[in-house]
Amino acid sequence: MRNDTRLIHEGMDPKQHHDSLTVPLYQTSTYTFHSAEQGQRRFAGEESGGIYSRLGNPTVEVLEKRMMALENGGGALAFGSGMAAVSTILVHLTKAGDHILCSKGLYGCTFGLLGIFETKYNITHTLSELASRQEIEEALTDKTTVIYVESPINPTMEIVDLALVCEVAKERGIRVVVDNTFCSPYLQQPLVIGADFVLHSATKYLNGHGDVIAGILVGRDADEMHQIRMTVQKDYGGIISPFDAWLILRGLKTLHVRMDRHVTNAEKLLSYLKTEPAISKIFYPFDEDHPQMAIAKKQMKAGGGLISFVIEGGTEAAQRFLNNLRLIHVAVSLGDAETLIQHPATMTHSVVPEEDRLAMGIDNGMLRLSVGLEDAEDIIDDLKKAFQAI
Ligand SMILES: *Cc1c(COP(=O)(O)O)cnc(C)c1O
Repeated sequence: MRNDTRLIHEGMDPKQHHDSLTVPLYQTSTYTFHSAEQGQRRFAGEESGGIYSRLGNPTVEVLEKRMMALENGGGALAFGSGMAAVSTILVHLTKAGDHILCSKGLYGCTFGLLGIFETKYNITHTLSELASRQEIEEALTDKTTVIYVESPINPTMEIVDLALVCEVAKERGIRVVVDNTFCSPYLQQPLVIGADFVLHSATKYLNGHGDVIAGILVGRDADEMHQIRMTVQKDYGGIISPFDAWLILRGLKTLHVRMDRHVTNAEKLLSYLKTEPAISKIFYPFDEDHPQMAIAKKQMKAGGGLISFVIEGGTEAAQRFLNNLRLIHVAVSLGDAETLIQHPATMTHSVVPEEDRLAMGIDNGMLRLSVGLEDAEDIIDDLKKAFQAI
């Protein structure tokens, strides 16, 4: 099967589910054994089958198989949030005293988690642009066990050259983890490029309907993924509920159709935003003016559904602009059918000290737009009216 077909069929055999067309929702916490001996065999790993839903659930299993195929992995695990996926893989790959090399920008709570690692376990980290082989090599220490990357970086849309990072890491036996939330496997496939693990906040594009919080981790090696399932995932316990897995399976069926529309809408908005005189800067990976467009085009199928831009006048102008929008909702999160806009300086990045934030390129007048699936002309009309009002 090709990926657009896998989104709909992978991992689901109606014969195994009473001939049901869609994946049934197994809303159960545990499974009954036919005999005491069978229970013993299942616990011993000698016989497959259900034990307890923290260790596996048939609805969740279809989601995991589907994501494993979409990301070209050897195994996948579903979690109750993107952060549960992030924390699980980092606990798995590190021990006290290790070092993690990170891309310069990280999701805020991932940054918070690294702070916990540092104070509690002396696991240190370095933020780096990872822009050249030399820069990557200089940032590595003899304690580095993981390179953790987001690309594009939120909200500045900077791109990390994934092939370069994986090449340098492989030479030294360092594992590479990529947070692929912004792209989804439809636009970027880090395992194919050479990463060891890819993770998602499934809350965003994978689900796409703004009604679930969930996470996915896909790894290259089946045995290692099984080991993570039976250790960190089982004992830290950040598993997904069967109902949330069922909703994500429903969302995934239209991922390709939705992503195409997110992208074409984003391209239309980009053309309009470039004509708006109040905007001083625009950030979009496939924009001709993006300094890393060539790298973006090497590893992404299209530019995605997120655009950031800076309006003159700092926080005050940005807030006045937001308050004059009618169709576009002021909200964090992304990847939903509804167009959402947020102000990083006072919302997602408000915990970052202003000096650091400005150094990261997050101007006080920056806004991040998650382009939805509405008619692009209606989104543009809403933006135009808000610009006129300010
Ligand atoms: C939202 C998000 C996360 C965290 O995911 P949750 O589902 O909110 O726990 C991690 N990384 C990125 C890039 C995100 O956008």
